[in-house]
Amino acid sequence: MDKALFRFDNSYARDLEGFYAPWQAATAPAPRLLLLNQALAEELGLDSATLDDELGAAIFSGNQVPEGALPLAQAYAGHQFGHFSPQLGDGRALLLGELVDRHGRRRDMQLKGSGRTPFSRGGDGKAALGPVLREYVIGEAMHALGIPTTRALAAVTTGETVRRETSLPGAILTRIAASHIRVGTFQFFAARNENARVKQLADYTIARHYPTLKSADNPYLELFAAVSAAQAALIARWMLVGFIHGVMNTDNMSIAGETIDYGPCAFMDHYDPETVFSSIDAQGRYAYAHQPLIAQWNLTRFAETLIDLVHPDPDEAVRLLTEQINEFPTLYTRHWLDGMRARMGLATAEDGDLALAQALLSAMEGQNADYTQVFRGLSAAVHGDPAQVRAHFTNPAPFDLWLAQWQARLARENTTAEARAKAMDQVNPLYIPRNHKVEEALAAATQDQDLTPFKALLAVLEQPFTERPGLESYAQPAPEDFGPFKTFC
Ligand code: AMP
Ligand code: MG
Ligand code: MG
Repeated sequence: MDKALFRFDNSYARDLEGFYAPWQAATAPAPRLLLLNQALAEELGLDSATLDDELGAAIFSGNQVPEGALPLAQAYAGHQFGHFSPQLGDGRALLLGELVDRHGRRRDMQLKGSGRTPFSRGGDGKAALGPVLREYVIGEAMHALGIPTTRALAAVTTGETVRRETSLPGAILTRIAASHIRVGTFQFFAARNENARVKQLADYTIARHYPTLKSADNPYLELFAAVSAAQAALIARWMLVGFIHGVMNTDNMSIAGETIDYGPCAFMDHYDPETVFSSIDAQGRYAYAHQPLIAQWNLTRFAETLIDLVHPDPDEAVRLLTEQINEFPTLYTRHWLDGMRARMGLATAEDGDLALAQALLSAMEGQNADYTQVFRGLSAAVHGDPAQVRAHFTNPAPFDLWLAQWQARLARENTTAEARAKAMDQVNPLYIPRNHKVEEALAAATQDQDLTPFKALLAVLEQPFTERPGLESYAQPAPEDFGPFKTFC
């Protein structure tokens, strides 16, 4: 029936025996397909018309294993809030297999929320509808913003109730990823001193994600450098849009450089470097401004797993890896500054640009200035109307100072206001997943089985840069009465 629906080619299962447990999904009593991502299905070469019904519900709930799939739970470890857990692993997820998409890219297809596995520890292996929809919409918003991320292919409800603080509808997300290899995957085997397995995983990772490194002088050092570079680029993109991941544990850091494991994540509204939304992050370890430093810390944990591979003399290996780790801030700042230049409408580079970008952020601090709206408002200022953006500042004096510096800097480039403003509107989003809009959509879906607000929000976020009439409320920060926002996961 579903013959040739999926053309699986399962390299992880084939090449990495001992790195996972073959497993099967729990039975969902009454699966219902809520969402199918048509564009992504198309990209994966899937027949979405066939899947958009009971067959989709059966497959995306795990009730029916499609031909060619080899469901398995992956082993991994990880530092959670700085503390090492030697055994985490897929406690509520199953890798169904890999598909090669229309662009020739290998992509993992994973069910998340499909029941207990040998790695579940105390957990029930399930996911509630709210968090499944949150991962769906934020991941798709990130993708539309051009930020590397795992994607959502489908969401189903299982027909079962899961117990959290209250009883909630159970759901499963079908997640598509470049891979699910994490820093924690390396840590799992390194912590057991299974050096041959660390090497096997590194070789697999190089072949899958960084194939040109195979012939490098020191492929494992180069692997580290490549992962580090990918993370520097990724975290810069997060910072540029005001995204806060919320749980940057080493098990939530993808070796392929995608944003992964959306839990208590959220976008910052007013600019405040210490912003934390996660209810479980009491110390603010994963606050907005800490993210580049945490990425570097996580990469250091990754480097530790590679010492034996990088050089026979451990001191020399540590020296070489440390050199790379120390490059991270430079790499990160380069990406961030490139992004900031674009956001400020600059087409050329000058020495003072970093200070100029930092001065704008300083002007926003303590002002209740909406981060997204301030940047979006700069294109109107280019057109000679700075009043609108100026209105975001309770005390506009620091902004006025900045404005004069910025205008002087713009004058040193010969671009028309028209072209500059247009370019800025293509990098400064108008629509981001506003916390109150996300909450509203999740509440309607969970409490009233009404997906209308969710689908409307998704449609808005699919084109974050394009202003459309009637969508004004999606561009606004939360109203005062929404109160301080907390995310739970
Ligand atoms: P996360 O917080 O989603 O990144 O997950 C951290 C670890 O806890 C991973 O090993 C997950 O598989 C596991 N985990 C999270 N939720 C559950 C659950 N409901 N049941 C079993 N394991 C879970
Ligand atoms: Mg995780
Ligand atoms: Mg998880």
